[in-house]
Amino acid sequence: MFSNEFIREIPKTDLHVHLDGSLRLATLIDLAKEQNVSLPSYTPEGLMDTVFKKAYKDLPEYLQGFAYTCAVMQDPDSLERVSYEFALDNAAEGVYYVEVRFAPQLHVNDQMDIETVISSVNRGLERAKKEINKNKKDADMPDFEYGIIVCNLRMFMGESSPYYKKIMDALSWSPRKEIFAQASLQLARAAIDIRDRKGYPIVGFDLAGAEHGYPAIDHMEAFHYAHRNFMKKTVHAGEAYGAESIFQAITALHADRIGHGYLLFSKEALTNPEITDKEAYLKKLSEYIADRRITIEVCLTSNRQTNPGLVDISKHSLRDMLKHNLSVTLCTDNRLVSQTTVSDEIELAIKNFEISSSTLRNIIVYGFKRSFFPGSYVQKRNYVRGVIDYYEKICKKHGIASK
Ligand SMILES: [Zn+2]
Repeated sequence: MFSNEFIREIPKTDLHVHLDGSLRLATLIDLAKEQNVSLPSYTPEGLMDTVFKKAYKDLPEYLQGFAYTCAVMQDPDSLERVSYEFALDNAAEGVYYVEVRFAPQLHVNDQMDIETVISSVNRGLERAKKEINKNKKDADMPDFEYGIIVCNLRMFMGESSPYYKKIMDALSWSPRKEIFAQASLQLARAAIDIRDRKGYPIVGFDLAGAEHGYPAIDHMEAFHYAHRNFMKKTVHAGEAYGAESIFQAITALHADRIGHGYLLFSKEALTNPEITDKEAYLKKLSEYIADRRITIEVCLTSNRQTNPGLVDISKHSLRDMLKHNLSVTLCTDNRLVSQTTVSDEIELAIKNFEISSSTLRNIIVYGFKRSFFPGSYVQKRNYVRGVIDYYEKICKKHGIASK
């Protein structure tokens, strides 16, 4: 019913996408050569055989690629280039609104502090935005807009980056979870200060990294600081750990959106012995999420790649999310590492789940409505109105019901 062309033409969002997982392969190779960074291969085919695969054995294999991409994103010019190309690639497939996330701490070195890192990324995105909006083919097309989400890590090691090494060394007598909490608080302070002083569209605060053994609650102070300063919050939760991780993200960190939420309906993944009636707990939690319109950023391909048990994508919990009328948006997670695009994710969902034209419209519109749009509420409403009008125009062109 929905052709590839239709999917590409409708206005789309990507609210969950990591910058360091979304480089162009050719750029990675280029930058690696320029900077003498060693790669297992210097051809796109070679890298797709060895690092950036269609399918991965498990999460550790999935994460390997980030060591290479991060290695070439350690100076202002490379960050700007990667960000610029990232925005162009999104716009080329009809992604008009993108919220790109990254952990600035992984790019801090002797030449760059957190502010330089964020400024470089913003410079690339802003340059692309101007170009894209100047070259619009159709005056009815929505403008390209973006927001920046900064990622805290649930845990890190000295080897994670020079910045983290300094922190670990300086606080070597402190318990690790205190160090992780302090690093998050420092990032919250930095992000809010830079947002307020520079006026960059830093719209969200995220928590990423290993869920198991590193609960969200440890980062409460940082998230409360962000919350008090009107920063929106999204948390990776229910990706590799059960529903109580999602519960914590919402109740302790004030999450407005949940990254993945894959295990939301899983009784098996719910391991807290204090929860005796698992079914009732999951029902209450999913009802709360539905009622409060907490949006789930669903990343189908990425979930399949990091959960070896999920062979058949039609078994993904998106089925239950749709059944319970949750607010969901389809995202890539990583354009390069997951070898995907927003259009691919939508096509995958359409192939594997019952998605009517009204469901598709809801999913698309929720992406825009539940975004952390950087402008005022009135501007956001006008923007979303323009998106819906354009969506309807594309539907008409393709003979598809728009509701
Ligand atoms: Zn993610």
